[in-house]
Amino acid sequence: ATPMSVMVAVGKAAEYGMLVRSGEALQKASHLTTVVLDKTGTITEGRPSVTAIVPRQDFTEDQVLALAAGLEQTSEHPLAEAIVEAARGRGLDIAPCEQFEAVTGAGVKGLQGHCSVLLGNARLMQENGVEIAPMASISSELAEKAQTPMYLAVDNQLAGIVSVADPIREDSAAAIERLHALGIKVMMLTGDNAVTAEAVARQVGIDAFHAEVRPEDKEAHIRRLQAEGEVTAMTGDGINDAPALARADVGLAIGAGTDVAIEAADITLMRSSLHSVADAIELSRATLKNIK
Ligand code: ADP
Ligand code: MG
Repeated sequence: ATPMSVMVAVGKAAEYGMLVRSGEALQKASHLTTVVLDKTGTITEGRPSVTAIVPRQDFTEDQVLALAAGLEQTSEHPLAEAIVEAARGRGLDIAPCEQFEAVTGAGVKGLQGHCSVLLGNARLMQENGVEIAPMASISSELAEKAQTPMYLAVDNQLAGIVSVADPIREDSAAAIERLHALGIKVMMLTGDNAVTAEAVARQVGIDAFHAEVRPEDKEAHIRRLQAEGEVTAMTGDGINDAPALARADVGLAIGAGTDVAIEAADITLMRSSLHSVADAIELSRATLKNIK
């Protein structure tokens, strides 16, 4: 009877738009105590767009955007796509970039013409000795509106801010409420800055989050929760979520996410909705709870 009901549950899951790789993962879903969610592309849509450009001193908005796009045309980060698209939308000349380098979880750098250009978070600026104090309050204001502001520096002088926003999925708050009603703790992990993370967490009703998490540390957070006795699910979409998806008791990948995340996960959510996480838990509790 055991393998039979697992098979039935796996089939039912498919009707709900969940592709389940192993019956074992679905069984574990009935025992979950904590669900960890990635922010970008999981709680949010993963389709960011540029929402503000704030130039500094002699720079214009177009110059700031064109320099940022010059760096990002080589990057594959979702933030990069938004910036290049905005520059193309304004018909700007995007200069080629030399010696491009992506600093994982922090930003990008390179040479444009005779200038060194940096774009990224406060940590990237600090590591390169760029003084961000003149724009720190503008940056916080944008982050408090759940946007992701990035600093631009030219020859290690602050030149402006490019801010990007990724809309929160319209059903994320309702789905998180369902998880809470099922008695599940819901935590968010993000590489984004703490102010933006807090704004998103507040809007969707998450109480615990970790911000500025480096890609290699997401898995460590899952391990720590497991060591504390939590049966833990991870839900994510990105390459940087893959180790955490593999480590979790149940890894759930957003179907619209990267192949690397899908390969690392036990369950793929074809609906790209967090409601599917609650569906998986309800389904597995209803059909599998009494099975060893
Ligand atoms: P997430 O967990 O949200 O996917 P990442 O770890 O990829 O975040 O990045 C963390 C932060 O590093 C971003 O919020 C951004 O400030 C900065 N960053 C990363 N990649 C880039 C990039 N290509 N251009 C500009 N900033 C970047
Ligand atoms: Mg993501």
